[in-house]
Amino acid sequence: MTISQAVGNVCTASGLNTKKQQTANSVENEVIYLPNTDCAIKSQASLSAFTSYRVGGAAQWYVAPRNIEALQASLKYAKEHDLRVTTLGAGSNLLVSDRGISGLVIATRHLRFSHFDHETGQLTVAAGESIPSLAWEVASLGWQGLEWAVGIPGTVGGAVVMNAGAHNSCIADMLVSAEVLSPDGTLEILTPDKLGYSYRTSLLQGGDRIVTQATFQLRPGADPAKVIAITKEHKKHRLNTQPYNFPSCGSVFRNPKPYTAGWLIEQTGLKGYQIGGAQVAQLHANFIVNRGGAKASDIFCLIRHIQSQVQDRWSIRLEPEVKMLGEFQAACG
Ligand SMILES: Cc1cc2nc3c(=O)[nH]c(=O)nc-3n(C[C@H](O)[C@H](O)[C@H](O)COP(=O)(O)OP(=O)(O)OC[C@H]3O[C@@H](n4cnc5c(N)ncnc54)[C@H](O)[C@@H]3O)c2cc1C
Repeated sequence: MTISQAVGNVCTASGLNTKKQQTANSVENEVIYLPNTDCAIKSQASLSAFTSYRVGGAAQWYVAPRNIEALQASLKYAKEHDLRVTTLGAGSNLLVSDRGISGLVIATRHLRFSHFDHETGQLTVAAGESIPSLAWEVASLGWQGLEWAVGIPGTVGGAVVMNAGAHNSCIADMLVSAEVLSPDGTLEILTPDKLGYSYRTSLLQGGDRIVTQATFQLRPGADPAKVIAITKEHKKHRLNTQPYNFPSCGSVFRNPKPYTAGWLIEQTGLKGYQIGGAQVAQLHANFIVNRGGAKASDIFCLIRHIQSQVQDRWSIRLEPEVKMLGEFQAACG
């Protein structure tokens, strides 16, 4: 089954509202229904609930298509109205500016379907499927290969783009192919050798192609109880070593090998350091947590502060792993 077949209603490209004036002057709570569909493009939609940090302003325009046709229609709409497109997965690796994001934000979270091929052990899943849910699902089938991913609260699309990884495994190790949609509406199947994978990096980052689905190679035939036990162990380890009790984006900085960012930040004495509602976590120094009421600017300024302190002490520039979207002030007070 394809994503298109999974949901009956589609956004058709016909009769789209093409008044440029309307997009340029978007007002709050404006909704444009793409005709003959259940697909609504909303104006000034708050994004804070759609990011794991629970911060950030509004999308100038926001849409969450349920199938490929709706996604293609949304892209067409953006093109016709000169709107820059930003793709949003589960928002678990994002810092969205308090000023929001201009253009059209396309959320993939309603792109859902999964197909398990019991003969080949291949799992084909839509971009919006949740990685931790899949980890539990394959474990309960006795399929090995996704135990490591249980603590990564993102979507399939975000994981493919970020080359998400943990416990010495990563997406690149198991990806058979990814289907991507180009701005002109064409779909293409890409194998990992075309994706330039390395540590938390892929050629899809910062580009304009949207991952629509991915196929992963797993290893069926194990005892489900054993795979579940390993998955539980990974989850337990994460809960013991990382602060899952406050909103965060996971690790803020890439590890500058041979060091880990967390060790450098801890050795710089920054654990517990706080700006506004944003704090360097006590449990894991490479996490910045929202202790309540944080603004994106608090988190941004804490990132800058950590970078300058670590640079002064170790002459190492920490590079953010978190993706910052929208405008941030040049200077922090
Ligand atoms: C508590 C916690 C723990 C974490 N632990 C880990 C960990 O162990 N390992 C790890 O690697 N990460 C970890 N992360 C970070 C995050 O979960 C991963 O980077 C995840 O893969 C991001 O997926 P997402 O769907 O949330 O993507 P988003 O955060 O929504 O987006 C990330 C980037 O991918 C782009 N994008 C998203 N979906 C698509 C798509 N379909 N097509 C094209 N571009 C897209 C976005 O534009 C953005 O640039 C953690 C985060 C949290 C909050």
